[in-house]
Amino acid sequence: MAETRYIFTTGGVASSLGKGIISSSLAKLLISRGFRVAIQKLDPYINIDPGTLNPYEHGECFVTDDGAETDLDLGHYERFTNVRTSQANNVTTGRIYQAVIDKERRGDYLGETVQVIPHITDEIKNRIQLLGSSSNYDFVITEIGGTVGDIESLPYIESVRQMKWELGNRCLVIHLTLVPYLASSGELKTKPTQHSVKMLLESGVQPDVIVCRTEKHLTQAIRNKIALFCNVNPSAVIESIDVETIYDVPMLMRDEKLDQVVLEKMQVPIRKQHDLKHWEQFLHKLKNPIGEVNIGLVGKYVELRDAYKSITESFIHAGAENQYKVNLIMIHSESINESTCKHLLKDLDGILVAPGFGERGIEGKIIAIRFARENKIPFFGICLGMQCAVIEFGRNVLGYKDAHSTEMNPATPYPVIDIMEAQKKIDKKGGTMRLGSYPCTISPKSIVSEVYNTTEIVERHRHRFEFNNAYITEYEKVGMVPVGINNQNNLVEIIELRDHPWFVAVQFHPEYKSTVASPHPLFVHFVKATIQYKKVHSK
Ligand code: GLN
Repeated sequence: MAETRYIFTTGGVASSLGKGIISSSLAKLLISRGFRVAIQKLDPYINIDPGTLNPYEHGECFVTDDGAETDLDLGHYERFTNVRTSQANNVTTGRIYQAVIDKERRGDYLGETVQVIPHITDEIKNRIQLLGSSSNYDFVITEIGGTVGDIESLPYIESVRQMKWELGNRCLVIHLTLVPYLASSGELKTKPTQHSVKMLLESGVQPDVIVCRTEKHLTQAIRNKIALFCNVNPSAVIESIDVETIYDVPMLMRDEKLDQVVLEKMQVPIRKQHDLKHWEQFLHKLKNPIGEVNIGLVGKYVELRDAYKSITESFIHAGAENQYKVNLIMIHSESINESTCKHLLKDLDGILVAPGFGERGIEGKIIAIRFARENKIPFFGICLGMQCAVIEFGRNVLGYKDAHSTEMNPATPYPVIDIMEAQKKIDKKGGTMRLGSYPCTISPKSIVSEVYNTTEIVERHRHRFEFNNAYITEYEKVGMVPVGINNQNNLVEIIELRDHPWFVAVQFHPEYKSTVASPHPLFVHFVKATIQYKKVHSK
């Protein structure tokens, strides 16, 4: 296909309707028909990236191969499409303004008054089109964050209006709304959808397709009504009913013919039938488990659904791969102490200690790790989870009293986790961690060499602190072994325990690379270890 086509997803009525999932599902369907598709998210906040936001504000921060700290929707894009994203796939208002202001200072606009229209909108349009032209995509799907009517979204909606005008049917707008069900009158209500389309029209944008989130099926009469009031064909009113799992949505959208409507509207000939065989197999295994395991996720943001998004999704992929249901039990690290520990952890088949920052909840994580180590429960530590495993081992096996990470206690007598040399000079917090993909060499005769079935891996990072090499020999002597090393910087990336059936902790974030098409082997094997543990212990 010669020219890239641009599809926009906007949202109305309420936030959190699932624009990311609809965009990812459409991408999956188009890819399964043989098209090349990229997805991009435009976020209307002024932060340069979500890296400096705490998870209570924004959920998980997703990290790409090129080290961009991005919106968690990029995680959905990768998990659904198996296509890697990068910095170019997530643009914030902060980044747009920074680029325009830098150009102004450089003198690119000499003599001009720099304004939202055309300077900011031009920068937005460039970012959208650059992604299409740089890799020759057939389609770029651009999700506009926020809800139509938000002040912050206005320049983005205006850019969509301009692109529609400039590119004609190479541009298409999908508007996602909510059709609420009023139990008292037993009716679905279309008025909020009508209002939100009116709001879009006030900005000069006519949506081409309306996707309706609903808890009850839309009747043909409701579809006709929405079509009539919103100037779209009845076939372009798509139902998105609540489902058991987000992974059902591509199938739902296929049945509602979302991609077919999009292709017809853009006058793109249909290439081939969908190839969704693998996806169907995945759903089958997900929905027909032959057993179940209980895995505890110990972290300090457990009350927040989106804080560990990539980890929870990785367990869904790994569970399906093993055809086992993983019951992920969220355990608040602050609730774990010497007296509660046994009660909270004794029925688990595996324990994962989550990534994180700062002092809060640290001691609970350390107690949970001790419990997993001493009781030989499968253990998986990620990033801060690995650092806590090193601290626990230092304190309780090597007898290093008050061993700690210098992040939590800069004055510790045993700084077993310490800041990297290169990090010491850095005083700016935004985008300065060790970020993105780094290679790691794995020792043969380790659990992880079997897990990965190779000795050279690449994984994504997001941290400032590291295992302090000054202590390696002492650790190794008594059974905590570094089995994955970054040879360029001589950094410990993976540790294992010698006398334990499955105790693996990693400095990187494997969860960012797990997708439906390619579940991450560490999660798959951790779940396997928990199944094994359960078999042995339920006898
Ligand atoms: N706070 C730790 C560090 O900066 C761990 C970070 C994480 O878990 N992502 O090294």
